[in-house]
Amino acid sequence: MTVPGTAHNLCDVRRNTSALRRHEQAERGHCVVCGTIGTSEHDFICADCGDPLGTMLYCTACGRRLALDPATADAFLRDNGYDLDNLSGVVMKVTRCSRCMADDETVDLSIYRLRFG
Ligand SMILES: [Zn+2]
Ligand SMILES: [Zn+2]
Repeated sequence: MTVPGTAHNLCDVRRNTSALRRHEQAERGHCVVCGTIGTSEHDFICADCGDPLGTMLYCTACGRRLALDPATADAFLRDNGYDLDNLSGVVMKVTRCSRCMADDETVDLSIYRLRFG
C-alpha cells in the first residue's frame, strides 16, 4: 500500500511546482515607462527608457523616446510644476509628445527616476 501512496505524493509535488512557476511569471515586474516585462518581480525602468546620466522622455502614444538636454528638460518640468534639483536618471512619461499631439489634447505627465544600488 505504501508504493501507490508515494507515487501519488510525487504527483502532487509536481503539480504544486508548476503552479508556483505560473504564479511567479504572473508576478513579473515590468518597466514602469514602456511596460516591457522584466526578469524579477520588481518593477523597474529598462535600459531603453532610462539614462543614468541624462533625462529621457517617452511618449506612450507613439512610442517615441527622446533624450532631452538639461535646459529643455528643466524648462519642460517647470512648465508642468516640477522643480527638480537633479535631472540625472529622470524619465518623463507623457501620453502625447510634440510629434503626435493634436491641438485640443492635454498631456498627462508622469515622472520617474532611476534608482541606483
Ligand atoms: Zn522601458
Ligand atoms: Zn508621441
